Amino acid sequence: MSRHRSKSRQRSKTVVKAANRPQVEHLEFTRNRLNDGQLEFIAYGSAREVGRSAFIVQDRDRTLLLEAGLKLRPDDVSLPPEGLINHTPEIDSIILSHAHVDHSAYIPTLYQNDFEGKTYMTEPTLDVSLMLWKDHLKIEGERYWTEDALEEAYYHTETLKYKKRTRIMDDITLEFYNAGHILGSAISVIDWDGYRILYTGDINDNVTPLFNGYHMPEFEEPIDLIISEGTNGCGEVPKRTQANRQYIFEALDTLNRGHKVLAPTFAVGRSQELLILLTEHIKDYPIFVDGMINKMNAITERYLTPDWVDTALLDRLRKEGRSSPFDYENIFPITSDNYDRPHDFRRHLGSSNEPAIIVSTSGMLMPSPMHLHLRNHGTDPNNILTFVGYQAEGTLGREILEGKRKVELSADFRGNTVTVDIKAKIMSFRFSGHSSADGIQRLVTESGAKNSVIIHSDVQNAEAIQGFIGPENTYVPELRTPITFEKSKDQE
Ligand SMILES: [Zn+2]
Repeated sequence: MSRHRSKSRQRSKTVVKAANRPQVEHLEFTRNRLNDGQLEFIAYGSAREVGRSAFIVQDRDRTLLLEAGLKLRPDDVSLPPEGLINHTPEIDSIILSHAHVDHSAYIPTLYQNDFEGKTYMTEPTLDVSLMLWKDHLKIEGERYWTEDALEEAYYHTETLKYKKRTRIMDDITLEFYNAGHILGSAISVIDWDGYRILYTGDINDNVTPLFNGYHMPEFEEPIDLIISEGTNGCGEVPKRTQANRQYIFEALDTLNRGHKVLAPTFAVGRSQELLILLTEHIKDYPIFVDGMINKMNAITERYLTPDWVDTALLDRLRKEGRSSPFDYENIFPITSDNYDRPHDFRRHLGSSNEPAIIVSTSGMLMPSPMHLHLRNHGTDPNNILTFVGYQAEGTLGREILEGKRKVELSADFRGNTVTVDIKAKIMSFRFSGHSSADGIQRLVTESGAKNSVIIHSDVQNAEAIQGFIGPENTYVPELRTPITFEKSKDQE
């Protein structure tokens, strides 16, 4: 796919097989019910749950969609935002905060259903989304969209830098700030006829190897409405420095005794954070990197500038005379660029007794290259199996964390499995990608927000936030239940 968006380009209309089109039951022009001066928020997903984010913000004339994601479920098909498809004819533009599938992977479906507006995101978000969308096609096939729809989405995307206010619709501007969550993630500040909305997307206030926490937007005027994620609303997230220290201590201890460290890790974000940490502290042992992580490392390398990542990382690279945090003598990507037959190399690694670290997808131990490494090394009680990310209900990662040891691992590419008795020591480290309750409170306080809506959170966490920022004017929305705000009243 080449990258050009000139108006003169010839593009044939996407032809979509009827079987691939979700059924549109009826068209809902919900904004017709609004009065002048009213603004409405409706969640089509990620309300009192995490996953399939999709939020409509609209007044009588304009409809803006924040995110369109799919909710992934272990051993089941993903869930789309509920009923959003009926809204497609009404949507004018989309804002995508970051590439994670639960925020982005339903966007191609909207283009497949004749949505012709623009989607706004940062340039890294576009690159990472394309990688994840293509991967999703492999996992779920054309359940929600075809490759053509992915191209439509790509051609309709407009990329923005941080801190560049841009007009996205009549009398509506958008300004992105670094959200500190993953590469390219953005906080959106939307000026809607002078009514000011802040949408956090997923934010992290913790200092990570890539980011110095989220960037506080410049608030010339108070925010009228904040739409905030509340994943960690119930409590504090331990400082990352503490988790980093523990990880390096345990990894070095295992390596020095001559054994292996297995690190199942999410391809986007956490694996780069872990590798940046490992290459800083572990120079004498090989680190093998397997799965989609290698593609994400290559994308990250394109954005190693102060515009996108923290200067502390760039300073370290400059001091060490390096251009990439993934290009170290002891890092070995298991790819066809490096090995004639990557799979043979994985087998070879399986019979080696040398100490090493293996960083591989999947982060929650779904069928993936990590299953082979786990078959080879998970049965040795001297090795350690380290979890560095959230393990969702129903995943093998969660089952092992909760004590299951006899597990089914994929044995080949044809879906056959083998039962393995895991004897490696299981260790879990708290590396959260989401803000602490403190970080959310700081944003609400500094922005002077008059109204808050808490999404991307279970009820318990959302209500905890509602408790500490004040229950008045703080909403924990139900799915598809509009909340109406009076623009003129809030602005007084
Ligand atoms: Zn995310």
